[in-house]
Amino acid sequence: MKGNGTQLLLEENEKLRREEKMLRLLCDTSSSAFIYYNFREDRVDTLGNWDHFFDFSISSMDDLSKLYDRVEEQYEIPLREGLFIEKQWMDRDSFEIKLKESRLSIEVEVNVVYDSEGEPTDKIIRFKDVTKLTSQKDELTYMAYYDMLTGLYNRNYFVRLLGEFLRRAEKETKKVAVMFMDFDDFRRVNDGMGIIAGDELVQLFGQYLTGLMNSHVVISHFSTDIYCIAIYDPCGARSVETIYRVIRERLKKPFKMMDGQEVTMTVSVGVSEYPEAAPGTLELINCAEIVMFKAKSRGKDKIQYFEGAILEEFLQTVNIQNKLKEVVFEQNFTMYFQPQYYAENGKFRGVEALIRWRDNKGVMISPAVFIPIAEKNGTIVPIGNWVIEKSVQTYAGWRDKYHYPLILSLNVSAVQCKKRGFIDSLMKILEKYDVSPGEIEIEVTETILIEDFDYISERLGELKSAGVRISLDDFGTGFSSLSYLKGLPIDTLKIDKTFVDTLLTDKNTKIITESIIYMVKRLGYETIAEGVETREQYQYLKELECDMIQGYYMGRPMPAQGISDLLENLTVKVG
Ligand code: C2E
Ligand code: CA
Ligand code: CA
Repeated sequence: MKGNGTQLLLEENEKLRREEKMLRLLCDTSSSAFIYYNFREDRVDTLGNWDHFFDFSISSMDDLSKLYDRVEEQYEIPLREGLFIEKQWMDRDSFEIKLKESRLSIEVEVNVVYDSEGEPTDKIIRFKDVTKLTSQKDELTYMAYYDMLTGLYNRNYFVRLLGEFLRRAEKETKKVAVMFMDFDDFRRVNDGMGIIAGDELVQLFGQYLTGLMNSHVVISHFSTDIYCIAIYDPCGARSVETIYRVIRERLKKPFKMMDGQEVTMTVSVGVSEYPEAAPGTLELINCAEIVMFKAKSRGKDKIQYFEGAILEEFLQTVNIQNKLKEVVFEQNFTMYFQPQYYAENGKFRGVEALIRWRDNKGVMISPAVFIPIAEKNGTIVPIGNWVIEKSVQTYAGWRDKYHYPLILSLNVSAVQCKKRGFIDSLMKILEKYDVSPGEIEIEVTETILIEDFDYISERLGELKSAGVRISLDDFGTGFSSLSYLKGLPIDTLKIDKTFVDTLLTDKNTKIITESIIYMVKRLGYETIAEGVETREQYQYLKELECDMIQGYYMGRPMPAQGISDLLENLTVKVG
């Protein structure tokens, strides 16, 4: 019996030795390093590839403090917590640290084992070298956010940051300024000294500008010789005036180029401010850009603040020229179309015609910027006529080619709608292209009704009796009382993007949107949601039985060819 027991013990020992050897081998050949701590014995051991990470050894708990000297300052606290604080609610925790001298990025993973009473018994801390991964990630992040030449933010990321500023400013009722800055006579450098010298100058100035950035001031290298600055709550040291003064001071001194030459530059700056100039990011940048051109035309090396009158002037020239030549419209404007779909089955319902203005430098100016001004100075009438004719003509082309039933939605502003002869001229255009009124939908905003309720609803009534569909645009942003909707000659209600934006995140919006859709249906109108950007929004709107949807998720506004392609594919699918 005894011999048998010893035999078993020996076998057991042998097994343990084998297992220990295996574990040692595993740890030693691993590229990671481990700290093993046993709470009962208060003992610390290190295993694995310790030397790869640290140049000291650890034999007691006190030695652990040596680790803190090796990591960069901001990682000290997470490391302390990881080493000494047992987070009862989790048995595994991981975080990243960076070593000072070797610049290694290390993922630290802490595992704690508890006994049945919930007391910790063992702890294993694993150090894994993730330097390679981190640097790849850093590089990608860098490329996504920054401009390689200057180290400033790139255009896309700048627009995102500006968007964040605007959202915050709306909440805190603060201002945001955009400074659009363009080198004067940059050509002179590029042509005279070569493109490389041009790049060098852009880089030198860009590097100087990085020094002006802080949490309230973000700066981007926008394109070739253009920089854009966004300032949150501009005042004092970060007011537009101060920043402009500082920049001009710098520009008084020449830039020293690598080849020893010295170059002096000046800039023209356009400034627009939220909320006065425009409500959105792109519009604000557009406004600042347009007034920057004004600064140039005033003789360069100047700053120009946004005034509505400047845009008006721009438009007036278009208007005056138009009296001479129809061709001017074709040169300056173009129509984009955004598809609309039935929510229930995803069928193509129609398109909304949206105008685009490309100025003579090829820059797109948003209709959100120029339509309000065109409305004020009356230019909207010729522009509006052109929009209708161009869109109906394009639409008739699709219909003749693809024979697919679509509805063409046209935005019509108050001034245009009130104008005597508007209905007649619309009907004439429809006749000319052999389009029936039932294929057309007119989008009007609520504000149009507030101004002159009786007259406008009469006009809309006339249109409706002629068979044209009427849609109430931007519903929910203005007057929007459901009770006054009753009796209005409309067919469709367009739920504004602001509702769709927060539909899934804001409880109140959810309730309001649900009740709007419910009520509107009871009143006998159709509903269309605009600005649908995600699958989740679409799914939810579908559940609410919203009839139609439109937005980036299904399709952005696109040139006529894009819609042709859509129809082409549909016909192929159907056939
Ligand atoms: P709107 O009638 O409310 O047009 C919808 C706007 O939202 C369009 O901007 C469209 O590009 C944008 N949009 C559509 N889906 C999405 C989305 O999913 N996400 C986001 N972020 N935006 C989306 P756009 O084309 O800049 O037009 C702005 C406004 O200018 C229009 O607002 C309309 O009021 C006016 N407008 C445009 N074209 C004309 C026109 O031909 N005549 C008149 N009178 N006004 C026009
Ligand atoms: Ca619209
Ligand atoms: Ca709208």
